[in-house]
Amino acid sequence: MSGCRNIPLFAGYPRLRQSLSRVVLAELPTPVSRLKGLEKHLRIQRCDVKSDGFTARPFGGNKIRKLEFLLGEALSQKNRSVLTFGAAGSNHALATALCARKTGLRAVCLLADQPNARYVRRNLLAHLDAGSDLHGYAKSSALKRGALVQSLLEAMRTGRPPMIIPPGGSTPLGACGFVNAGLELKLQIDEGLLPKPDRIYVALGTMGTAAGLLLGLQAVGLDPELIGVRVVPEIMANARAFQRLYSRTRTLLRQKDPSFPFAEHGMKRLTIRNEFFGTKYACFTDAGMEAVRLAFSLDGVHLDGTYTGKAMAALISDARNGELKDKNVLFWNTLNARSLDGITEHRNYRQLPGFFHRYFEEDVQPLDRPAEAADSR
Ligand SMILES: *Cc1c(COP(=O)(O)O)cnc(C)c1O
Repeated sequence: MSGCRNIPLFAGYPRLRQSLSRVVLAELPTPVSRLKGLEKHLRIQRCDVKSDGFTARPFGGNKIRKLEFLLGEALSQKNRSVLTFGAAGSNHALATALCARKTGLRAVCLLADQPNARYVRRNLLAHLDAGSDLHGYAKSSALKRGALVQSLLEAMRTGRPPMIIPPGGSTPLGACGFVNAGLELKLQIDEGLLPKPDRIYVALGTMGTAAGLLLGLQAVGLDPELIGVRVVPEIMANARAFQRLYSRTRTLLRQKDPSFPFAEHGMKRLTIRNEFFGTKYACFTDAGMEAVRLAFSLDGVHLDGTYTGKAMAALISDARNGELKDKNVLFWNTLNARSLDGITEHRNYRQLPGFFHRYFEEDVQPLDRPAEAADSR
């Protein structure tokens, strides 16, 4: 288990190494591989996957790249804890809690209600292993009040206010992790591991992943179309908010190292796709679950109903419309690829705060029933 000390962002812009605090959490570069089954079945010229599921153990996924910079900052500010937000099954909240513990920080997680799914149960049980301080809220107004109360309590407990990490870790600092990912991809292209992509598909949630990635790609002169498949309500993910995060991230990097490029045309390469969202966040869709099954049966890739299945559904739909037969396509897989069995199997949900018991006592949403889902984890 070795993290990566030398990242291309610091190699390319040495001043950033001095001015950005990063704690090594991720095993990088993440692998790229070819999806031959999908290529053949859907008549795509070339289809590769970038597997950010392998960023860390016991839990990988896209959030680890952001947390290297966010928790690095918390440590350099001498915070003793972090406070963050998410839905009950939030991958971000879990990744934050597990990484915080590795770095000696306490994690307070304020979690909102969401549609039930098996991964919600699994992630909640894993919080028991992480030692998170968990709080559940049925309404967003209560969650907002809770944030104030919990940060005061935390300040009294530890003598310092916690560092507040917004949902998804999508601040300019968090997005720097994905600027680095864009540089990392460029090196893998130069090594001949994959061709230059014409299009990249990625799930669009709090947007730190896509905004950082687009900036990183532009910085190294890669100019693919970036397809951000929206998986959260439009009020959270939209072109204006994306532009803001993109330019604030660029400003941060150029402040710390003026040689970082301005990357002016980035926004022109973004397409936000709205038609795969369905009715609400974390509510699985038929197209999304078909994509989960297809990716698993053709290429053995595990996807999920909340994020990556919906992103893959966009890719599949475009391929079926014949749009990808002369394109090099890259699917950016943001989903954790490691099994949490080892840290969850002996856990009992009754050790969780009462708010969360219903996810274990009530049924999961119909499209998540095992007969329906290829991904049993
Ligand atoms: C959080 C998450 C995303 C969305 O990433 P953002 O940076 O919030 O846009 C996509 N896929 C998975 C599996 C996630 O957990």
